[in-house]
Amino acid sequence: MSNPCTLKEWIVFAALALEGVVPSPRREAELLLRAFYNEDALWLMRHEDTLLHDTSQLYEWVQRRAAHEPLEYICGRVSFYSQEFFIRRGALIPRPETELLIEKILLHVNIEENLTFVEVGIGSGVVSVVLAQHLPHARFIGVDISTEALSIAQQNIDKFGLSERIELRYGNLLSCITEPVDAVVSNPPYIAADAVLEPNLSYEPEQALFGGKEGDETVQKLLREVLRRRIPLFACEIGYDQKQKIEASLSDFKIQSLEFYKDYAGFDRGFIVRLEDGAKQ
Ligand code: GLN
Repeated sequence: MSNPCTLKEWIVFAALALEGVVPSPRREAELLLRAFYNEDALWLMRHEDTLLHDTSQLYEWVQRRAAHEPLEYICGRVSFYSQEFFIRRGALIPRPETELLIEKILLHVNIEENLTFVEVGIGSGVVSVVLAQHLPHARFIGVDISTEALSIAQQNIDKFGLSERIELRYGNLLSCITEPVDAVVSNPPYIAADAVLEPNLSYEPEQALFGGKEGDETVQKLLREVLRRRIPLFACEIGYDQKQKIEASLSDFKIQSLEFYKDYAGFDRGFIVRLEDGAKQ
């Protein structure tokens, strides 16, 4: 597009480029522009006729979006639990339904206690950050098999001033945990290897999405590990068709409570279990 153009003209151009690719082209064009200048909707209304001189980087952003790259990766930020976090390729983009995982945990713990949590697959760190904000006496160990994810998590932990209470470790599941633990929380990969996914998901780390051939292998492995160590509380996000196998895996254990919850679309999306004879080991 010819330079310079006004903001209003740029939005029309960008919306055209996104037509047929994203559900709300004009809205996304505006969001890209606002994120680029770090401004709000009011600014946009007031500056519609302002001239844009160098649009080459903005143009590149539109091209990326037209190729299905998620808006969050392009803008480098994501909103979760009403706060803004850093995000980039290398960590899964937090989904709104993962806020439910946090709510379930908050309902099952005593806010005053000095609990030790492990988050398996901490990704961008949003779950541990929000939990740490709500549980002022708790300490967290965030584990991931991706060094890239760990570096994004560290950025978010620093942004919210939580480095004293959230420690990061490189490792698989609970292998790097030797100390006593009160609770494990996880949004592990749980999609089946052969699932056909929307194009935007191809930008997200495969190891954060695919849980094995059936999809639930990682969830089941983690559950076995939690049960073996008798960790008292375990909260985990799961795939819509994985509830029955979780119930079966738990059938031989003494359980104080087991609750499954559904996501906003009404699909089974997670569970929280408290073991009867769980012990902080
Ligand atoms: N809920 C995510 C999705 O539908 C998957 C996240 C995961 O595997 N943990 O894309």
